[in-house]
Amino acid sequence: MRSALPLVCVALACGGEARIEPGSEPGPVAEPGPVAEPGSVSESVAGSESVAGSESVPGSESGPSAGTGNRFRVPDVRTRVRAAGTLAGLSDSLRAAFAPATPDFSAILPPAPGDWLAEHVELGQTYDQYVASRPNRPDWRRRTLYIAPLGEPAGPGAPDLELVAAFARAHVGLPVRVLDPTPIEATGARGRQRGSLRQLLAPDLLAHLERSLPADAFALIGLTAADLYPDPGWNFVFGMASFRQRVGVYSVARYHPSFHGEADHDPAPDTWVLRRSLKVMAHEIGHMFGMEHCTYYECVMNGSNNLVETDRHPIHLCPVCLRKLHYAIGFDPVERYRRLARVFRRAGLGPEASWAAARAERVEAAARAERVEAAARAERVEAAARSTPRSP
Ligand SMILES: [Zn+2]
Ligand SMILES: [Zn+2]
Repeated sequence: MRSALPLVCVALACGGEARIEPGSEPGPVAEPGPVAEPGSVSESVAGSESVAGSESVPGSESGPSAGTGNRFRVPDVRTRVRAAGTLAGLSDSLRAAFAPATPDFSAILPPAPGDWLAEHVELGQTYDQYVASRPNRPDWRRRTLYIAPLGEPAGPGAPDLELVAAFARAHVGLPVRVLDPTPIEATGARGRQRGSLRQLLAPDLLAHLERSLPADAFALIGLTAADLYPDPGWNFVFGMASFRQRVGVYSVARYHPSFHGEADHDPAPDTWVLRRSLKVMAHEIGHMFGMEHCTYYECVMNGSNNLVETDRHPIHLCPVCLRKLHYAIGFDPVERYRRLARVFRRAGLGPEASWAAARAERVEAAARAERVEAAARAERVEAAARSTPRSP
């Protein structure tokens, strides 16, 4: 099942999505989006044909909405190789993990009309550019990723938070803690009623998260089953984040097919909720580490204009983005893939589990082959040296 909901985003820095529902009142087309300051990003969703205006945040490479069709060119192999940076000097295992030429990854597909890259100009961010940007990295004081449930995480649209946390832990290899749920009333968030739908003002939730940021937090991510809106002029938003403050809030309300009246044709709607929740978690964590949208491969860091596009993107990081995360954190790639495979298996995400397990095997095999080849090379050199007559 794929959601048939058409969605449109607003690009606000490296990955904002704010969308206007079809048939509802127009959004603030001429007004700035729901970003209050540089470094803030709205990651949101609302469906519609019309792009509701966009604004790039200073310091971001993300451009404004192109709005006039697809200008994106799929990068060729050389561009993708360059994007990953030179692999010289890395260990066998890291070289195998970051090597661009592999059947495990597809080059990014040309965007369909309405897709993120058809609507937004993005220049891409190579590994070298990422390093030069001096991204946020955890240090000994701030290295825990916190997940804060806002309101009761129950009902359709609410993923298993333990699984979300286990995934985040496997994804980044940092300590991840799920905080006790905070009642919505305690957040001080304002809300509104739209028909039968109760919505919460996302910036109020962000302000609450900023006030609650634990001293040892690398980032604090709020998850809520409540629907959100960024501003009274907007219909809804999937989420918002302030990367400078290292907080973000995301709603899973619209991830469940029943929200769109589509439950009947989906045999496992909860799987979709979980899969989408894990993708948004991986994507937002990437942004918290200073990663911009990926324009090289099909990758979880691709921008997404709608749920159809989100569903199409893989849950894994491409070699370029994986190398960025490795720069920020450091990990053994084979171990990381195995951890991910175990979590996916627990979560019932069979295709993702198989991919991660197979990927671990291939990286390990490629690293082993490199070692064997290096040893053979060394032997040949030694043999050549032995057979060369020494000068008297
Ligand atoms: Zn994004
Ligand atoms: Zn990528």
